[in-house]
Amino acid sequence: MSRKLASIQKIGLIEPIEGADSIVRAGVLGWQVVIRKDEFQTGDLCVYCEIDSLLPDKPEYEFLKPRGMRIRTLRLRGQVSQGICFPLSVLPEGFTPEEGLDVTDLLGVIKYEPPIPANLAGQIKGNFPSCIPKTDETRVQTLQPVLTAFADTPCYVTEKLDGSSVTYALIDGDFHVCSRNLNILDDGKNSLWRVAQALEIESKLRSLGQNAALQGEIIGEGIQGNKYKLRGQSVRFFNLMLIDAYRFLDYAELVHQLESLELTMVPVLEDNYQLQMDIPTLIKKSVGKSVLNPQLQREGIVIRPLIEQRTVLKGLGRVSFKAINPEFLLKYE
Ligand code: AMP
Ligand code: MN
Repeated sequence: MSRKLASIQKIGLIEPIEGADSIVRAGVLGWQVVIRKDEFQTGDLCVYCEIDSLLPDKPEYEFLKPRGMRIRTLRLRGQVSQGICFPLSVLPEGFTPEEGLDVTDLLGVIKYEPPIPANLAGQIKGNFPSCIPKTDETRVQTLQPVLTAFADTPCYVTEKLDGSSVTYALIDGDFHVCSRNLNILDDGKNSLWRVAQALEIESKLRSLGQNAALQGEIIGEGIQGNKYKLRGQSVRFFNLMLIDAYRFLDYAELVHQLESLELTMVPVLEDNYQLQMDIPTLIKKSVGKSVLNPQLQREGIVIRPLIEQRTVLKGLGRVSFKAINPEFLLKYE
């Protein structure tokens, strides 16, 4: 499922902001958005664009030009504001708006992707292997139905690291090294390959005796500004997938396998967390310092059931999602 960056949504509860006359706070899905007073009433439909939407360079979005057309997290009068609500008039004439409709492509909205540093980009061998899902996490703000359905499920919580995604895979005897979207060639200097060699990933994958993929986050020097101030580069893993069975290991198996392969997992914050279904509670939970460097705000958390689950509510996708720490977004975005 690709991400609905722009969609038709209902304006939820509108509340005043202390000390502000011209702006108010509104709930849209699980997001809090600051809007102009009197522009919308509770229950109105709007075109809502999530953070990380890149809007097309058109007159109606002119005001976003100084911000690179990107929707970011803002703090206005002390209120975190995430996303933007446009009136339905930005839609093409004759379009019938309906709550929930995805208008991302219709409006020409695309996702902002941070530039991939040269040492990771490498030379391209080919596409990402189609037998493995790309790494991705849905934002909790759009998942109320999933949270409701899985409330109280025992989950584990890991720290979301701000590095770059890597997938190491053994498929029919061949070892592959992939970035978020591409299969990368070993040109002797690519960081993803160098780390693979240092950690002996290929032989570790071969020791599993079947087609398998390890997925993690590469962090360290030269990556996303090395926020954690680490020496060198390393990978923290969050997935081990058995490709032929098309199955991700459950938490206990994952911990055990990574230990026996002597590979490091992303920091585990909790391993017996009863899922709470209230979005603001989960956003609060995301706030905290990084285990890797307690000086800084962590990017957020990733929550998954201890036993893997799939749900029709995510198009039979995996139950796994992220809550991003608003303090981190305000600082780094
Ligand atoms: P985003 O970085 O916002 O695109 O969120 C999804 C990405 O987070 C995934 O593709 C992973 O590369 C990365 N990630 C970092 N830490 C974790 C973690 N603890 N669990 C799962 N994914 C993670
Ligand atoms: Mn990321």
